[in-house]
Amino acid sequence: MPSKRISNIGKPSLLGRKRALVQWLTTLAIIGIPFCEIDGQILFRLDFKNLALIILGRTFPITDLSLFLLICIALTLLFLLVTLALGRAWCGWACPQTTLVDAIEWIARRIGISVKAGNMTASFWQKLVLQFVYLFFSILVGANLVWYFVSPYDFFPAVVNGSLHWIATMTLLIIASVTYLDLAFLRRLFCKEFCPYGRFQMVLVDPGTLTLHYDTNETDRCIQCNACVRCCPTGIDIRRGFQVECINCGRCLDACREVMDKRGQQGIIRYSFGLENRGIKALFNMRVGLLVLALVLALGSLALVVTNRSDVSLNVARNVNLLPRLTVDDKVANFFSAYLTNRKEQKISVYFALADTDEDLQLNGATSGYELKPREKKRFDFSITAPLEDLAKTRSTDILVMSAAGEPLAKATIYLMKPLTHEETN
Ligand code: SF4
Ligand code: SF4
Repeated sequence: MPSKRISNIGKPSLLGRKRALVQWLTTLAIIGIPFCEIDGQILFRLDFKNLALIILGRTFPITDLSLFLLICIALTLLFLLVTLALGRAWCGWACPQTTLVDAIEWIARRIGISVKAGNMTASFWQKLVLQFVYLFFSILVGANLVWYFVSPYDFFPAVVNGSLHWIATMTLLIIASVTYLDLAFLRRLFCKEFCPYGRFQMVLVDPGTLTLHYDTNETDRCIQCNACVRCCPTGIDIRRGFQVECINCGRCLDACREVMDKRGQQGIIRYSFGLENRGIKALFNMRVGLLVLALVLALGSLALVVTNRSDVSLNVARNVNLLPRLTVDDKVANFFSAYLTNRKEQKISVYFALADTDEDLQLNGATSGYELKPREKKRFDFSITAPLEDLAKTRSTDILVMSAAGEPLAKATIYLMKPLTHEETN
């Protein structure tokens, strides 16, 4: 096949700055999210004490199985779709591990260390400086993880006065130690040999997946300068075709474009959808289509569940220590315990009422004056009395949690029974 020679081309379009921008934005988001509050509402936090997730000031207890199942399904589908479409672009463009190693290699070069395919050749003093750099980044990573559980606004004062909870302290120390070992001994080796995401990618690669492509039709233009190999952080040669170690970072593409630009030619390495460079239309296939459909359904269901969710959760259980009994005025009392959780980040005042306003039912107990702090749980014991003749059959009624303004916030259906007979209790 004749070689394609292109002259008078413009400045090559390089990806280095764009990749750095994506890395900066991702890193800032990961570090900054725990600090963010909108109108006094927490943007995102994992509340370990109450086993709940807080998003935009709303609390989602992990016992809310339908919600967490939908979140897990949506995240899994998103992960599969991104990997199927963009390959390991996450690894090369946004993964914190890559960003950390890029930052360390950048600092290493600034202090005169030679870095080749992730390996560093440094003097004793340069190695000593690097140890402090590893330590700084390791502590930052450990603290950043803890901020997702403990507000950074509480974290720093607690560190200063030594009152940080021991679990948070242990988490910080363990994560910082693991990160230090990773940075000091593994770095790129982690991406090449240990990262499970890279192994997944082997299974998920599809005829339309984005990969770096060395055009074998243009091998006659390759001047064997090896610039694409020298710049590769994982030390592979993209000219040998698709390899699982490739993190889609695009450095080889930039290197080749720069080299070929000096010869008035376009680079030989390109991003392509599919190993045969079939263009973006290769993405429109059955596997991607089914994943998009499933993701839309999962996200739609999640939106429905979240928007229809009340700010208060109510669970009611029959009080097993107090069986239904006859009262002096020939009514039957059924005893219950209600468990109330405030899912909001603000204090709320509530009272209880029966949805059934028939005069024959009566709610007994301290029904009003309930103040719940943000995410607080409270128990309320109550009984309902009903005329004996109304309970020939088991009867149901709804108990409501009302806001101070008189709006219903949550509802639970309960069943009223007549007292058990002597035979039934034996
Ligand atoms: S082959 Fe290219 S895209 Fe892949 S890791 Fe190496 S430099 Fe990055
Ligand atoms: S940078 Fe381009 S020209 Fe140089 S060896 Fe790699 S593919 Fe060939």
